[in-house]
Amino acid sequence: MTLSEEELERYDRQIRVWGVEAQERLKQATVAVVGLGGLGSPVAMYLAAAGVGRLILVDPERVELSNLNRQILHWTRDVGRLKVESAAEKLRELNPRVQLEVLPRRIESLEDALEVARKADVVVDCLDNWRTRFLLNEACVRLGKPLVHAAVRGLYGQLTVVKPGEGPCLRCIFPTEPVEERPFPVAGPTAGVLGSLEAQEVLKLLTGYGEASVGKLVLVDGARMSFDVLKVQRRSDCPVCGSLG
Ligand SMILES: [Zn+2]
Repeated sequence: MTLSEEELERYDRQIRVWGVEAQERLKQATVAVVGLGGLGSPVAMYLAAAGVGRLILVDPERVELSNLNRQILHWTRDVGRLKVESAAEKLRELNPRVQLEVLPRRIESLEDALEVARKADVVVDCLDNWRTRFLLNEACVRLGKPLVHAAVRGLYGQLTVVKPGEGPCLRCIFPTEPVEERPFPVAGPTAGVLGSLEAQEVLKLLTGYGEASVGKLVLVDGARMSFDVLKVQRRSDCPVCGSLG
């Protein structure tokens, strides 16, 4: 698959980072963005802008007024619309070359998660609940697909990349489901920072440039402006990935 003159110009600045062949890999790639909210907005925008060939957008919800402080793909006029439709409209304008598949569905079961993960080269967790996160984690481990995870609360955020068999999965790092709080506080730029980092991890996984954050838990504290990187390891007794070699 070769790139047109227009694509070479559009992606010029990043081709200077990872080269033309890596850019062609991006064009051939499919990424599932699960959740089109505060994290999913920057993730989908940067991946579309970067020329990832196909994006699968998964979110069952409609835009609410209280989403707009952070979910920057959705604007005032979109309140009441399906998030996947509002997102797809903006992403098409940003980069008409990117193919979009919209799934206005909730992931309720492992089977649902497997169905989404099967179609993707990388899955991005842009969710706001741990139940669905763990379903995605399990699906990705079963299929051997990378999962990029982030979560935010207030001015805090965390990020890690699961590469099944190479590093810990989400269950290794968080053996029990964290307590859910609804609605939880979030500052818009915090979701923006963590979403941008997730998009960057996806681009590294797909291009092979740099080093994906496997075995690392990145903790961002926007209130103190600190980035801490914890080393995290696989658990041999992990119920999800413990049986992998
Ligand atoms: Zn595990």
